[in-house]
Amino acid sequence: MTETTLLLLKPDCLAARHVGDVIRRFEQAGFEIVGCKMISLSEEVLAEHYAHVADRPFYPELRSFMQSKPVIALAVQGEDAVAKGRDLIGPTDSRKASKGTIRGDFGKDAMENIVHGSDSVENAAAELKRFFAPHELFTAEVRG
Ligand code: UDP
Ligand code: MG
Repeated sequence: MTETTLLLLKPDCLAARHVGDVIRRFEQAGFEIVGCKMISLSEEVLAEHYAHVADRPFYPELRSFMQSKPVIALAVQGEDAVAKGRDLIGPTDSRKASKGTIRGDFGKDAMENIVHGSDSVENAAAELKRFFAPHELFTAEVRG
């Protein structure tokens, strides 16, 4: 199935200048960029995006990390983009991620892990809506 997933290139990705590396991996895997923007994350958007971890002890630190620099939001489209995107990214904790995955190669730990990727088709749809207006997505499929 052709899907579109939402990536956020996190502040550590920009700080270490791995933006090109991350995009290259998705492009080389056959995916296409159908939306792209640089944004500062507001408290509100962050609370919504990370609602599932808002009560975890690390949340205040995660919030300040995610607001330490702007992020780059990408909408990436292709065959099984959600699951394949997660495979390219690797598991949450960069220290446990295999070499060859984005987090395994460029991430530092469980927080500074370079990139967010949607974890289900349903969440991808909600996250694309959160970060992109319909006219900012250059694909018929996700305009709805
Ligand atoms: N996170 C963290 N410490 C943890 C687990 C998660 O700082 O022990 C951060 C990390 O940046 C992660 C984000 O919270 O990417 C969202 O967590 P989730 O479980 O959704 O991980 P992901 O889907 O990004 O792998
Ligand atoms: Mg997640």
